[in-house]
Amino acid sequence: APQSYDVAVIGSGGAGLAAAIRASDAGARVVIIEKMPTIGGNTIKASVGMNAAETRFQALKGIKDSKELFYQETLKGGKFRNNTELLKEFVERAPGAVEWLASLDIVLNDITITGGMSIDRTHRPEDRSAVGGFLISGLVNNVNQRSIDVLLDTTVEEILHENGVVTGVKIANEYNEHHILLAKSVVVATGGFSANRKMVVHYRPELKGFVTTNHKGATGSGIALLEKIGAGTVDMDQIQIHPTVEQTTSYLISESIRGGGAILINQEGQRFYNELETRDNVSAQIIALPEKSAWILFDEQVRQNNKAADEYIARGFVISAATAGELALKLNMEPEALQQTLERYNGFVKQNKDEDFGRTTGLRFPLEHGPFYAIRIAPGVHHTMGGVTINTETEVVNDQHQVIKGVWAAGEVVGGIHGANRIGGNAVADIIIFGTLAGQNAAAHALA
Ligand code: ADP
Repeated sequence: APQSYDVAVIGSGGAGLAAAIRASDAGARVVIIEKMPTIGGNTIKASVGMNAAETRFQALKGIKDSKELFYQETLKGGKFRNNTELLKEFVERAPGAVEWLASLDIVLNDITITGGMSIDRTHRPEDRSAVGGFLISGLVNNVNQRSIDVLLDTTVEEILHENGVVTGVKIANEYNEHHILLAKSVVVATGGFSANRKMVVHYRPELKGFVTTNHKGATGSGIALLEKIGAGTVDMDQIQIHPTVEQTTSYLISESIRGGGAILINQEGQRFYNELETRDNVSAQIIALPEKSAWILFDEQVRQNNKAADEYIARGFVISAATAGELALKLNMEPEALQQTLERYNGFVKQNKDEDFGRTTGLRFPLEHGPFYAIRIAPGVHHTMGGVTINTETEVVNDQHQVIKGVWAAGEVVGGIHGANRIGGNAVADIIIFGTLAGQNAAAHALA
C-alpha cells in the first residue's frame, strides 16, 4: 500500500521547511519531497536578510519603523502592481515570523537596509553573515529534531486530484522509479523559474542570454503541476534582474554591500546613479552603459562590516589595491577620475546629502580606508515575481478565485505579492510568513 501522510510538502527551500516544521508542530505527520540531492533550494543563496517592521529587534536598536511605511514602500517598489490583500497579510504577519524563527533559535537581530526602503528593517544574523545558509541550517536542525521524513533526489511529477480534492502526489526517485504518496494536504513550495531559460525567454524575450543567480532547481515545475489541477497564475512576465552579479561565476553580490556603503562606478571612474534605487532601475542604468557592466567599489571599512565581502574575496573575483589610485590603474581607469569621484562622494556622506543622484540610504561611511576593492558586475535573472494564485490563507485558487481543495502554496512559486519588482529582503520574509501559514493551515485541514 502507498505510504500515507497528513501533509506532503514539495520543495525544501525556506518556504517548504517552514511549512513542514509548522505542520509537524501542529501534530501532523509530514514528508518533505525535494528533487535536488541537497536541501535548501534557492533560499540557501539568499544574501541580505528578512524584512519586517515593528519588530522587537528593531525596538532594541531604537529603530522607529511602521507597518504602514513598510506596506507603502513595498507597494511603491512593486510599482503598485502588488496584490494588496496579500501584501497587507505579509506586512501584518512579518514581526510574528521573525519571532517564530527566534523561537527555533534562528535569531535575526542585526538590522540593515536594502534598495527601496528608507528605514533599517532587513533582519540578519548577529554576525552579519548571509542569511540563506544561516536560515537553512537553522531550519534543518529543527526538521531533524522532529519526526519529519525528508526525501531527497525525488521529484514530484504530479499532484493527484480526485473529484475536486487533492489526494497525494506521484513521485519519481533518483532511479526514476515511480511511487504514489497519499496525503490529506499538499503544500507546494517549489520556488521560482529563474533557472528555466526557456520559460524566462518565453515571457521576456529581451532576457535571452542573461546569466541567472539561481540554483539549477529553480525551474518552475510547481507552477506547471498546479496549473494542471486548475490553479490560476498571475504576473508571469514580471521577472526581476538583479543589478550586481559577477558574470563569470553568476555569483550574486549582495545588496547589503551597497546598503553598507559601497558605490557603483562606470569605466570612466564615475558614479552614474543612486546605487540604492530599486533593482529594476539600477539594472536598467547598468545595461545602458557602453560596457553594459559596472564596478561595485568599497573600502576596508565597508568590507569589515560585511562578512559577505570576505566570501567574494575568497572566491577570487575581487580586485584590490592599497590606494584608490592603484585600484584605478588595475581597473584600466584614470586614477584622477576615480579619486575625484571618491572625494565628491565622501563629501556627500559627510554632509549626508547626495547632490548628484539623491541617494538617501547607505550613505554610511566615507570611502577612505585602504585597501580598496572592486568587483565587475552586470545584471542577472534573479527572481520571478509571477506565479500561481493564492488567497490570504495560502490556499491555491483558480482564475475565478475559487479554492482548489487540499493544496496550499507559499514562497516564490506564488505570484502577486511583490508586484512588478521585489524588494531585497522581502523574499525571505515571504517564505517564512506564508510558509508557516501554509503549514499551519495544511495541518489543520489534515487533522480536522
Ligand atoms: P522558496 O524560496 O520559495 O522556498 P526555493 O527555491 O528556496 O523556494 O526552494 C524550492 C525547492 O523546491 C528547491 O529546492 C527545488 O529544487 C524544489 N523543487 C522544485 N520543483 C520540485 C518538484 N517538482 N519536486 C520536488 N522538489 C521540487
